[in-house]
Amino acid sequence: MIVVGAGSAGCVLAARLSQTPDRQVLLLETGPDYPQRHLLPPEIADGTTVAGSHDWGYRSMPGKGGRMVPLPRGRLVGGSSAVNGTFALRGFPEDYDEWAYAGNDDWSFADVLPMFRALETTLTTATSRGTETPARFRSAGICLRR
Ligand SMILES: Cc1cc2nc3c(=O)[nH]c(=O)nc-3n(C[C@H](O)[C@H](O)[C@H](O)COP(=O)(O)OP(=O)(O)OC[C@H]3O[C@@H](n4cnc5c(N)ncnc54)[C@H](O)[C@@H]3O)c2cc1C
Repeated sequence: MIVVGAGSAGCVLAARLSQTPDRQVLLLETGPDYPQRHLLPPEIADGTTVAGSHDWGYRSMPGKGGRMVPLPRGRLVGGSSAVNGTFALRGFPEDYDEWAYAGNDDWSFADVLPMFRALETTLTTATSRGTETPARFRSAGICLRR
């Protein structure tokens, strides 16, 4: 299987797909990879800045008065999550329940809540909501900072 783009979605998808032992997964990324924390350029390591050096340089279509606004997108392993503002929000519970009601099993708020809790638990910061990462998510590389 080939996953194109090692961003937020591609990395998780490739990790989950490669859990099946006899499946080969190729993850393609056009930007650079910094496999260890000490190799990260300072502006990537700094979660408070948008790293222009690893941006695709997209801009919006001209709007009123011809004004175009930057549309930053990350271009490296980690994708936009490697350059983003590093805050996370849960969606509204009723939205997830609506998806489940529409036929998407496993997407009810009760089903996705353990995922949120896993993401909200880090090595250094036990958030008020975070708990121990459930084993079935730990092996999927969901809690990357553990
Ligand atoms: C500046 C900024 C701040 C943000 N702040 C937050 C935040 O605080 N909280 C939050 O939840 N979200 C935030 N976001 C949004 C969040 O980062 C994105 O929604 C999310 O990362 C998108 O994931 P994705 O997998 O769809 O795409 P991306 O993570 O962008 O991954 C796409 C990957 O595909 C690669 N790629 C593209 N084309 C090709 C090709 N042809 N061949 C190979 N590789 C290719 C790219 O280089 C990139 O690595 C922010 C985004 C930005 C840009």
